[in-house]
Amino acid sequence: MGSGKFDFKGADAGDIAQWITSLGEKPYRVKQLRQWVFTRGVADFSQMTDISKSFRATLEQTSTVTALKVLAETRSSDGTMKFLFGLKDGHSVETVWIPDEDRATLCVSSQVGCKLKCGFCLTGHGGFQRNLSTAEIVDQLIQARLRVPGGRVTNIVLMGMGEPLDNYGNVLKAIRIITDEELALVGARKITLSTAGVVPGILKLAEDFPKIKLAVSLNAPTDEKREKIMPINKKYPINELMKALSKWPLPRGRRITFEYVMLGGFNDSDEDAKKLVAIARRIPSKINLIPFNPCPELGYQRPSDERIERFYHTLIDSHLTVFIRQSRGQDILAACGQLRESLEMTGPTGGPAE
Ligand code: SAH
Repeated sequence: MGSGKFDFKGADAGDIAQWITSLGEKPYRVKQLRQWVFTRGVADFSQMTDISKSFRATLEQTSTVTALKVLAETRSSDGTMKFLFGLKDGHSVETVWIPDEDRATLCVSSQVGCKLKCGFCLTGHGGFQRNLSTAEIVDQLIQARLRVPGGRVTNIVLMGMGEPLDNYGNVLKAIRIITDEELALVGARKITLSTAGVVPGILKLAEDFPKIKLAVSLNAPTDEKREKIMPINKKYPINELMKALSKWPLPRGRRITFEYVMLGGFNDSDEDAKKLVAIARRIPSKINLIPFNPCPELGYQRPSDERIERFYHTLIDSHLTVFIRQSRGQDILAACGQLRESLEMTGPTGGPAE
C-alpha cells in the first residue's frame, strides 16, 4: 500500500505478464515468479534464486511483494490459531485458522473496521478505517499457510473484519487470484463470502463470480427487529434481500447459508423462530445459529442453552437444515474483533487509536 510500486501479491497472471514484459523480461518468467510469491510465500526478490541477478535488481527497484507483519500469533487449546497482522500504515487485521478433522478453514478480513455498525458486532463498534488492498487480502492466506501445521488451508470464509461487498473490486480480485487453477491454493467451491446483505453487491457477484458460496447474515426475522441491530436493513430490507438471493445461480443441491446471531431476549423467541422458518423456506438454504459472543461494550446477552436448543428444534421440526455454530478459540479471544480490540487498548501494535 502506498508505495506506488507494482505489487505482485495483488496481481493475477495477466497483470504479471504485462508488467514483466514492460520491464523487458520474457513472459515465461510469470510461472516462476508466481511460485515464489504465492506457493512458497517468498516476499524478498533476492531469495528468488532461479531469476537472474540483474532482473532481481530491476524488480527490487520497481516492484514489491506485500508481506503482512505478524503482530501476534496465538493458539487455542482446541487448535484454533489466531493471527493479528500489521499493515504498512500501522493498522491491523485479524485472521483466524480453524482446523477440523475434514477441513481447515481460514477466516479472512476484507476491511480495517466496517461501515455497517451492526449493534452486536465489535468491528462495527470501532468504526471504519479503510478497505484492504487485494494484496492484503490474498496475503492473509499466504502468511497463514506459512505458519499453520502442514500449511493446511482447505477452505476460506470471508467472515472476518469488514463487509466484503463494500470492498467489492479488491475482494473479487483476491478471490480470482486465490482460486486461479494454476496456483491451486483454494478452490472456488471452498470459498464462502459472508455479507450483511449489500443487495447491489450480491446481484453483481451473481454475474461476476457465482462459483463461490454465499452466506447472508440475516440475524432477525422481521424488518422491525433487523433494523434495530443492522442499520443496512433500512437501505435493503428483507424482501429486497430475498429477491436478490433468489437470483443467485445456485448449482443443483447447493444452498445459501443464513447466519443468525442469537441475542437473548431479542431474536430468540418461538415466534422469531417461526418467522425465520417462513423466510428460509423461500430459497434453498441452511441456517447457522451463532450464539452471541458476549462483549461487555455491546450490551446484548447470549441466550441460555435451553433457549438455543428450543429455537433450534423449532427450525428442525420445520424440516430446515440447521447448525449451531460452536464458538472456537474462546481462550484466545478468537471471536469477532476481540484480539485486535484487546491489543489496541493495551497498545503494543503501535496502531492508531480508534
Ligand atoms: N460483514 C459480513 C462479514 C463479517 S461478520 C457479514 O455481516 O456477514 C461475520 C459474522 O459474524 C456475521 O454473521 C455476524 O453476524 C457475526 N457476528 C458479528 N459479531 C458477532 C458476535 N458478537 N457474536 C456472534 N456473531 C457475531
